[in-house]
Amino acid sequence: MERFDIAIIGGGGAGMTAAIYAARGRRSTVVFERMVTGGQIATTDMVENFPGFPAGINGFDLAQLFEQQARKFGAEVRAEQVESIERRGGSFALTTEEGQYLAGAVIMAAGADYNHLGVPGEEAYVGRGVSYCATCDGAFFRDQDVVVVGGGDAAVEEALFLARIVRSVTIVHRRDTLRASAIVQERAFAEPKISFAWNTVVEAIEGGDSVQRAVLRDVQSGEKRTMDTAAVFIFIGQTPNSSLLEGLVEFDGGGHAIVDLEMRTATPGLFVVGDLRSQSARQLISAAGDGATAAIAAERYLGELPRGRLQSEAARMAG
Ligand SMILES: Cc1cc2nc3c(=O)[nH]c(=O)nc-3n(C[C@H](O)[C@H](O)[C@H](O)COP(=O)(O)OP(=O)(O)OC[C@H]3O[C@@H](n4cnc5c(N)ncnc54)[C@H](O)[C@@H]3O)c2cc1C
Repeated sequence: MERFDIAIIGGGGAGMTAAIYAARGRRSTVVFERMVTGGQIATTDMVENFPGFPAGINGFDLAQLFEQQARKFGAEVRAEQVESIERRGGSFALTTEEGQYLAGAVIMAAGADYNHLGVPGEEAYVGRGVSYCATCDGAFFRDQDVVVVGGGDAAVEEALFLARIVRSVTIVHRRDTLRASAIVQERAFAEPKISFAWNTVVEAIEGGDSVQRAVLRDVQSGEKRTMDTAAVFIFIGQTPNSSLLEGLVEFDGGGHAIVDLEMRTATPGLFVVGDLRSQSARQLISAAGDGATAAIAAERYLGELPRGRLQSEAARMAG
């Protein structure tokens, strides 16, 4: 069974930064990534708010640089999906489709998936007008008309943020009242740039090279209409990739792992970082910051363990 000091699950911005720090600290380090290095950021065309790239950088290219930097310091990056994490005698046994690994500490950086509408045009226009992050993409639509889908706090807060940048925001909501907290609602109703399409759903997103219109349907009358828009921002919830953590950590109401300021969880040696953790800013830079914090905390954790424990655990499991 292969053994590493630090195993990192997820090769997004959080996981790759943790790998850079852990490997540079001379800890044997592995990153398991089930899909493409970079996670969410690899799917976006232009990242304009990550320091060091004043002209912006393509998300996929940035992710490749993260991986290059982690490998340079000796981190291994394996294209494997982790299927379980088990606490065994003070170490962690990880199972992937390829086999089993032993780690002294685990940094869980599996991120979260934005819920999708599942309508025609949505996937095709991601990064070309369909967005799940106003902070990330709002600036691309300065002085244009945009649509926001959703009625909770995230949707309305993001609409308020967008209203500072764009010409108009139409909030499309399938009910006739918002779910957002009262104060957020009050601000939205007082904002002249925001209007509402109540009892309405988006049925399709259309355009040419980028989004040009949304096809809307009134859920009561069934009537359809087309609205010109440069972008459709979708905020209908997020699903954290937290299933591996069941029984090992505590969760907030949204299914995100609760951590302390060092990214520690209720299980010693298990850290959770990035979009998967509670109260994350859900930005690349904050995910990277979490990764660095967790790697430093993991290094400290391993340094405090009785010498040779990981080796003796590996020998015990091998025997
Ligand atoms: C379209 C889009 C544009 C964005 N633009 C910006 C922007 O411009 N600026 C900005 O700051 N933020 C942006 N964001 C947000 C930013 O991408 C996220 O906050 C950030 O990627 C979170 O990083 P993470 O490492 O926590 O998680 P993720 O990026 O979600 O990475 C998690 C990784 O873990 C892997 N994984 C999950 N489960 C397993 C498993 N069991 N085994 C192995 N691997 C696993 C996933 O495949 C994924 O690669 C954008 C997000 C999206 C969707």
